Amino acid sequence: MVRNIGRLLVLLLLMPAVLGWGREGHYATCKIAEGYLSKDAVAAVKELLPESADGNLASLCSWPDDMRTNPQYRWAIILHFADTPDYKCNYDYCRDCHDSNGNKDACVTGAIYNYTTQLRSAIVDTKSKSKYNLTEALLFLSHFLGDVHQPLHEGFVGDRGGNSIILRWYAEQTNLHFVWDNKIIESAMEKFYSNNLEVMIQAIQRNITDIWSDDKTYWEHCAHNYIACPNRYASESIKLACKYAYKNATPGSTLGDDYFLSRLPIVEKRLAQGGVRLAAILNRIFAPQIGIAQA
Ligand SMILES: [Zn+2]
Repeated sequence: MVRNIGRLLVLLLLMPAVLGWGREGHYATCKIAEGYLSKDAVAAVKELLPESADGNLASLCSWPDDMRTNPQYRWAIILHFADTPDYKCNYDYCRDCHDSNGNKDACVTGAIYNYTTQLRSAIVDTKSKSKYNLTEALLFLSHFLGDVHQPLHEGFVGDRGGNSIILRWYAEQTNLHFVWDNKIIESAMEKFYSNNLEVMIQAIQRNITDIWSDDKTYWEHCAHNYIACPNRYASESIKLACKYAYKNATPGSTLGDDYFLSRLPIVEKRLAQGGVRLAAILNRIFAPQIGIAQA
């Protein structure tokens, strides 16, 4: 029994980099986005979501993670990340966005382009019924916007985005990828936000209207009038992974207050950027006027 639990733990620690932010991180990204949606986007999102969601996008933002064990969605597992060559610390779509068989566009940035185009084409071409499942397109896009902002989703191929770096988070054995998906957010909720995710989200929202208010327009902007610019988000992520996530986080090390307190502001800013950008992208997709360039 104990040995089986040990084996299960090893298996869990060796799981590939497919989770993205944990449930809290995805909820936070989408909840922040909800606060910046235009009237048109709110209406479109409500229409696309299942009735049971009652227009609450955040409640379904982890759906692609819930589908990971569903054989029908096995093809989507590769779409949660885009790992990069070891120690390069940069991102290149042509070099990095493919699956293990070399199939192009099979990664998180390719998926963001794909689902943006699917949703936008349905808005532009209102006469014909879309051939795509637009509810799934909305949920995948919302989820992957979160994932692309988790720095270790553009981590190194060699350690599978930090999944094979086994270390301690305080007294608990885990891996570096899981620290960034879950542990930093969980510890922040415990230490600073009364174990309440809504309180943490409100603190991030206050920062967006306060210390980051000058940055928000820059975050939202995409060059060439594109609807989404995921390559930029991925480039930022791998730079942050090299500068903060991998630094002082070698196999066997113990991460404590120094690491936690210096990395938490990075995690909170990435959740803010993911939310602000998801809203900007949905607002552009569902804008009634024509003339917006396709992503
Ligand atoms: Zn994911």
